[in-house]
Amino acid sequence: MAQIVVYVKGKVVPSKESVIHSGIYESRPEMNAVFHIHDQLVVGLADELKLPCTEGEQPRGSYELAKEVQRMLSLRKDARYLVLRNHGVVAVGETMAAAGRLAEDVNRMARNLTQRMCNS
Ligand SMILES: [Zn+2]
Repeated sequence: MAQIVVYVKGKVVPSKESVIHSGIYESRPEMNAVFHIHDQLVVGLADELKLPCTEGEQPRGSYELAKEVQRMLSLRKDARYLVLRNHGVVAVGETMAAAGRLAEDVNRMARNLTQRMCNS
């Protein structure tokens, strides 16, 4: 079974999904921030919002998921936002503020779409 080993420093136990973060930093050295959140509203509307999304559902924290994210980012050099099917989202940026703003902006788009769907 393939593995990715990630070494981290800090005062808290790292997420089991650190392998995703590590893979993104490896693929995108110009990025300094990765937000990985479980935004179920966006995940549920990924296709309607036409967001790049992983093809299949991979186990959380798995080598396969980290590799699929890396593959998608290498195919889309300008992509800064990805949906992990039935799981969550990833927003990347040069700064924490930029990545966070992107995650908030996409969530706002999803809420707006939901309102339009409810009003029609
Ligand atoms: Zn996750």
